[in-house]
Amino acid sequence: MYPDVNRDTSGLTHATRILSCDEALVTDLPRPYHPAMFPFEVTHRDGPARRGKLTTPHGCVDTPVFMPVGTCATVKGVTPDQLRATQAQMILANTYHLHLRPGPQVIADLGGLHQFMGWDGPMLTDSGGFQVFSLTQLNKVTDEGVSFRSTIDGATVWLDAPTVIDIQNKLGADVIMVFDECPPLPSDRATLERAVDRSIRWAGQCKEAHHRDDQALFAIVQGGLEIDLRQRCAAALVDIGFEGYAIGGLSVGETHEQMVATLSPTTKCLPQDRPRYLMGVGTPKDMLAAVQAGVDMFDCTLPTRNGRNSQAFTATGYLKMRNEQYRTDDGPLEVGCACYTCQHFSRAYIRHMFNAGEMLGPTLTSIHNLSFFQRFMRRVRELIVENSLARIVEEFPIAANSGDGQEES
Ligand SMILES: [Zn+2]
Repeated sequence: MYPDVNRDTSGLTHATRILSCDEALVTDLPRPYHPAMFPFEVTHRDGPARRGKLTTPHGCVDTPVFMPVGTCATVKGVTPDQLRATQAQMILANTYHLHLRPGPQVIADLGGLHQFMGWDGPMLTDSGGFQVFSLTQLNKVTDEGVSFRSTIDGATVWLDAPTVIDIQNKLGADVIMVFDECPPLPSDRATLERAVDRSIRWAGQCKEAHHRDDQALFAIVQGGLEIDLRQRCAAALVDIGFEGYAIGGLSVGETHEQMVATLSPTTKCLPQDRPRYLMGVGTPKDMLAAVQAGVDMFDCTLPTRNGRNSQAFTATGYLKMRNEQYRTDDGPLEVGCACYTCQHFSRAYIRHMFNAGEMLGPTLTSIHNLSFFQRFMRRVRELIVENSLARIVEEFPIAANSGDGQEES
């Protein structure tokens, strides 16, 4: 179905083509849209880094793209209008959480996830594999599927490939993911090999079970830090053929250097003309390294999780908004930031919100952080077009620093 690996048919070097997604509302596409294609176009390159555009039934997405995470059908603490104002183009929701509560049939009966949560732009649901293997008490894992205890009520729940596709078909996101086994790191080689074998088997079953042609199905490459396993997994998935390819099982305990060492050999095995998605990543530094390895899509809870914990991202580092030093600081969270928070509120006010236990503290800081991540990615896209992505660390020194800010005081 797709061209040979590493053979680029994406129509590069259309230097005069004007990309309008950054300016356009994501709902501007005419409907009905012919759904079977999910076109992905790479328009510029800077080394392995790619600037592209993914089209979905709910609009187009500029890549590299950062997707805010709406775990339980809400990006925590912000409304869809506020989320759109941060320039978010595509968001993610978690199949695991929505399967347990309120249940996929409830959401389907209410018109699908877009309507249920009031987001009419592009959306992706994960498969639940990561949550099952990281959050739950596993009862049984076999080649057929996984039995685990619900983190909500302790009930025994069974998930397998056809079930995961059925759930995601009911939720109705534009991009859905195959069921995969995601082992923690470090894991021994036998564990990683078994997870690769199962993930390949389940990916094939997912493709067979998937019958909605308005949803793109992405596969997930596993293999831990073992390059040969990653490459074997990628080759097998490409052989089956999917509309996009994710790299899973990273950002699960390894170092930044280990993650980077795994990425390039993996992306080299993936088709040039389909999007690549690094799941659960990450910090500006991690995302920059991944973009430089040829990754196009990211998701992470950092902007909202850190926002709830009173931590604000800026180009030069992290601010802890409860700190005494901001008590009378009348400046914005970040000078030059165009977000709603920075346009209307002072650091002193935001500090006061947190110290008073007001809901607005997490909301305002999350709005700024989400806007910051979009601003960072927009600049990444612009610099790829200018063939000077390496300059991003001059404008965003935070992308050269380690960690997610949690260690800072
Ligand atoms: Zn701001």
